[in-house]
Amino acid sequence: MTTHLSEQVASETPAERELVFAPIPPGRLEEIRAAGVDEAGNRLTAEVDAEGGNPLRCCLLESVPGERVLLLAYTPPGTRGAYAERGPVFIHADRCSGYLTPDRYPPALSHRQQVVRAYDRDGAIADGVLVPDGEHALRVIRELFARPDVTIVHLRNVGYGCYNFAVRRG
Ligand SMILES: [Zn+2]
Repeated sequence: MTTHLSEQVASETPAERELVFAPIPPGRLEEIRAAGVDEAGNRLTAEVDAEGGNPLRCCLLESVPGERVLLLAYTPPGTRGAYAERGPVFIHADRCSGYLTPDRYPPALSHRQQVVRAYDRDGAIADGVLVPDGEHALRVIRELFARPDVTIVHLRNVGYGCYNFAVRRG
């Protein structure tokens, strides 16, 4: 009986640790801020986010009213060819803490309805699932990574489809 219980615990714990929740890498953020231009050649101008509530891809928090942000074009990782969509993302205008708990689904974004989009090794879309919140997203992410063809997962906004962050196997 004891053996059975410890096996159950052992089978769940590594699965949690195996996921890495990734913002835009800090080095890339520094390059973008220093260049003042995004990958599409758009000149970046800091703006005040008057209303707040926008997901920030640097620290995976939501903006608070009055924060200075940059809006830029970004191609998320793990996509290739026709699937390499470039889209708009917000980041803090100045260097921030970054994302501090990469082994956890971002708590500040967990209340958001999302699309969980999986990509295969060729950078093509392998699946897409609508989820009501982070708890359901986590379940779907684990199911998707149980498939050998899935190499990376994106979390995206519903409606506009904008990229928020990526999940990889650890
Ligand atoms: Zn930030």
